[in-house]
Amino acid sequence: MKVLVLNCGSSSLKYQLIDMDNENVMAKGLCERIGIDGSKLTHKANDKELVIEQPMPKHTEAISLVMKALVDPEYGVITDTKEIAAVGHRVLHAGTVYSESIVVNEDVKRVIRECFDLGPLHNPANLMGIEACEEAMPGTPNVAVWDTAFGMAMPEKAYLYAIPHEYYEKYSIRRYGFHGTSHMFVSGEALKFAGLDPEKGKVIVCHLGNGASISASIGGKCVDTSMGLTPLEGLIMGTRSGDLDPAVVQTICNKEGKDVNEVLNILNKKSGVLGMSGGVSSDFRDIEKARSEGNHLAEVALDAFIYRVAKYIGAYTAAMNGVDAIAFTAGVGENDIKSRKAICSYLGYLGVEIDDEANNCRGKNQMISTADSKVKVMVLPTNEELAIARETLRLVK
Ligand code: AMP
Repeated sequence: MKVLVLNCGSSSLKYQLIDMDNENVMAKGLCERIGIDGSKLTHKANDKELVIEQPMPKHTEAISLVMKALVDPEYGVITDTKEIAAVGHRVLHAGTVYSESIVVNEDVKRVIRECFDLGPLHNPANLMGIEACEEAMPGTPNVAVWDTAFGMAMPEKAYLYAIPHEYYEKYSIRRYGFHGTSHMFVSGEALKFAGLDPEKGKVIVCHLGNGASISASIGGKCVDTSMGLTPLEGLIMGTRSGDLDPAVVQTICNKEGKDVNEVLNILNKKSGVLGMSGGVSSDFRDIEKARSEGNHLAEVALDAFIYRVAKYIGAYTAAMNGVDAIAFTAGVGENDIKSRKAICSYLGYLGVEIDDEANNCRGKNQMISTADSKVKVMVLPTNEELAIARETLRLVK
């Protein structure tokens, strides 16, 4: 059975065709600059690459091109798009309505539309992707896999903000959590990789990439996660500030004569390690290079990033009254040997011991704690596409 996985952004569309009999990726690619000049499809299959540059005014045209590439006599991997059993879509926000993946029907599309406010950049693009697939492949089921689903298991004490309750009732203002598909996938893999009780294993997943978030889960069920109403809350990220006193917003507004939206834009796009380092970069490799060259602000930015991750691990260990396994994932988590070591150096009180030789690894499943370590620490590459494909298969089988 073949499942197509789609991740639609406002002007982009990433895809993978996965053969679910063996979970192999048959083809993958990216449509860029949808709706703007210079639209381009890059399709990779069988060690070959096809690049098509032609206008894609909407996601509908992008999907048609993807279909064409998939059945192309030279670059294709299937002979007929009817071989695609289902399409799994990454959808950002389901508000408080859905806490599980679901086969798309009119009601699901209505919910995606009603959540445009909560996910203004992603939900409209996600809906366009679904509608484009309905048009291109009538009768093929589409499945929505929500980024917010994992966080819906949080208890009220974790998801409610300490603000007047009417705002939750009127506007669904609560903590949702994002990167849910990644946290679901990696926490599940961690339970297996560490040989923990699938019902009771206590796991902390550190998804450290350009966007960064951390979750605590017991038996794969989310207890708490660091992102909130939007992905701005929590850890220090590439360009996002993470947690701060809301009065900072008021003060910048007053001092700089900006409105709230402008300051929120600064907190989302110009803060994080980019802002803290005085503008060096949002990319952690650049920040590390600057630190090694003696840039003090880059050093402080990295130290603060690491410190905040360590504080969250402490908080989440308390929330679960213990932790059995800590998993590092995403660009920094999977590749940054020094940051992993620095984070774990805060965790001696938990009995965490890192094996430096084992930690000298990148991008593969690897236990990095010693045999004596009281908590199992590991690197587990995330695979959101595969998680979406598995969910899709589960629902259409
Ligand atoms: P992601 O958002 O998961 O794609 O992660 C992107 C981030 O991972 C970027 O900030 C990269 O600089 C960072 N990254 C990738 N490889 C490394 C590495 N070897 N060392 C440090 N950071 C890395």
